[in-house]
Amino acid sequence: MAYHDESKWTRRTTMKLVGAVAALSPLGWLLGAAPAAMPWPTSATLRPRPPSANDWQKLEEALQGQLFKVSSPLDICRSAPGSPAAKAAIEDMKNPFFLEEQPGATHTTGWIGAFDAAVSPQAIAAENADDITLAVDFASKHGLKLVIKGTGHDYLGRSSAPDSLLIWTHKMRDVEVHDAFVPEGGAIDGIPAVTVSAGTRWLEAYDAVTNHSGRYVQGGGCTSVGACGGFTLGSGFGALSKRFGTGAGSMLEAEVVTANGEVLVVNKFQHPDLFWALRGGGGGTFGIVTRLTLMTHELPEIVGGFMGHIQAKSDAAFRRLIERFAAFYPDNINNPSWGETVKFTPENRLELALIFIDLPEEEAIGTWQPFLDWVDAHPAEYEREIKIVSVPFKDYWNIDFWLENYPALIQKDPRVRQPRGQFWWKTNDSAVSEYMYGYQSRWIPLENFRDPVRLAETFFEASRHWSFKFYINKALAGAAPEAVERDRRTCINPSVFDAAAWVLMQASDTSIFPGVPGHEPDRLKAEELAARVSAGMSVIREATPGAGNYANEADYHEPDWQEAFWGSHYPRLLAIKQRYDPTGMFSTHHSVGSELRNES
Ligand SMILES: Cc1cc2nc3c(=O)[nH]c(=O)nc-3n(C[C@H](O)[C@H](O)[C@H](O)COP(=O)(O)OP(=O)(O)OC[C@H]3O[C@@H](n4cnc5c(N)ncnc54)[C@H](O)[C@@H]3O)c2cc1C
Repeated sequence: MAYHDESKWTRRTTMKLVGAVAALSPLGWLLGAAPAAMPWPTSATLRPRPPSANDWQKLEEALQGQLFKVSSPLDICRSAPGSPAAKAAIEDMKNPFFLEEQPGATHTTGWIGAFDAAVSPQAIAAENADDITLAVDFASKHGLKLVIKGTGHDYLGRSSAPDSLLIWTHKMRDVEVHDAFVPEGGAIDGIPAVTVSAGTRWLEAYDAVTNHSGRYVQGGGCTSVGACGGFTLGSGFGALSKRFGTGAGSMLEAEVVTANGEVLVVNKFQHPDLFWALRGGGGGTFGIVTRLTLMTHELPEIVGGFMGHIQAKSDAAFRRLIERFAAFYPDNINNPSWGETVKFTPENRLELALIFIDLPEEEAIGTWQPFLDWVDAHPAEYEREIKIVSVPFKDYWNIDFWLENYPALIQKDPRVRQPRGQFWWKTNDSAVSEYMYGYQSRWIPLENFRDPVRLAETFFEASRHWSFKFYINKALAGAAPEAVERDRRTCINPSVFDAAAWVLMQASDTSIFPGVPGHEPDRLKAEELAARVSAGMSVIREATPGAGNYANEADYHEPDWQEAFWGSHYPRLLAIKQRYDPTGMFSTHHSVGSELRNES
């Protein structure tokens, strides 16, 4: 392959060169922490030259102070463990918005057997496409590995790396709502849309689109996830995806800085191949996206929560309950009105945390009534508690509404001088500064529901090892036809259209920071839980051959990942990657083409 075998650079050689230059350099601090040049395959005559002190200085001048050395907010915990400042730093790391404001912090702090999060030694706080172009040119000329951080939510640790120059897009957070957006080069009627810049978080997009414009944009559930980065570039599912499809499916246009430093505006009329690849082909792979335009949708009127649990009193009763659920689900719940999760636990419990849209409460409960009647008809075997509540959809991202009516559901950013509406859902606390023991997932084909007895046996056996969540909204069989039609134009694995649900088995803890005294992972616990997740998910994998998986929320060690994430689209994606990034400048773990650069 073109970018597999041409380079003779080795990391050790370039580390030595960087070290030698650093020793001579007046900019010792900068170079001392400089990322090592990586073995970018380049033509023999144009081998990258590691940057000199002078090169760094020129870059710093051109960027007008936007180049800086990165430190970790946890450094104080290593230098003065137990001090008030160290304790404050650990507290800060529980705030997702704080994490995003730190170029040296990421949401996932590590993963047993995979990685410990580590900072990129230097970063460029990009303010616009010109800054990014400068960075790309510099990295290309000097053979530096580039990493992009928007919010740092990536589960696989791909938004920082100890051997990289970081492009941090946090300052690029403009949001513009359009009544009628016309993609460049297109002679079509305008479409209601929103344009988000690279560092925008979903809460900021929702504020503009829903709170201020009365429309809906398909984003993620977690308010602090990025709207323009890995979420949408990797497909992106939200609670309402059975109704509106993926984030990628709503993409109308993107501006992207490619590996050769060109700024391209791509859409279905211009560079349609790159546009297709950006709609689900993964973040950090085809270029650096500076802005995206997403279509907006009519705002639903009502959103409701259907919550509670059903406790089975024996293993046999739990098997029957799962069987009943498997038979009930396809025709009743697997449709555009429903989203979110059902959890299956080793304690023989089904935990329901579903949302419904545009159904009056009576209709929502009516949908479940036959299932609940069956449960109630067997009081010796089951106990249940179900609550239902609904609110106007227009208030879904309105902090005042939640503070007044359901304050326990949200966490307002506790820091002073923060944007007034900044909050996160309390349920997301467990994903902030999270250390992974086991995290495996899988689409569940609709076909598997045709044999509820067998599916129940599979789910029951899997739940003996560890609990898992069954997501209605992260699979597209049963989705609205117009959403499916949009998503078929993206590069998401076509298996998603045959899948009625997606399951996630996860074991993790928060506030675990490798290398920080008192916050080290407990290796024995980690390995035991990782083994349980593996055992549980192998039961599900065996029952779902070829089912595929959602790339953004998958195991670090996902087997056969190209097929699992992109299925029959992979060869075309790889060809597009080689066309727009022939030297593999943008490459991260399990990204398209990474196998050619030993990044996988
Ligand atoms: C708490 C939490 C909640 C989540 N909720 C959901 C959810 O509801 N639905 C869902 O589908 N997923 C969800 N995810 C997964 C999420 O989609 C991925 O983690 C996604 O990659 C995050 O993208 P980001 O830009 O916010 O994060 P980052 O870590 O900043 O970036 C992720 C990847 O994209 C690259 N990237 C970032 N910006 C750019 C850019 N401008 N151009 C090119 N590449 C870029 C990065 O280099 C990295 O490889 C969640 C994750 C977490 C941690």
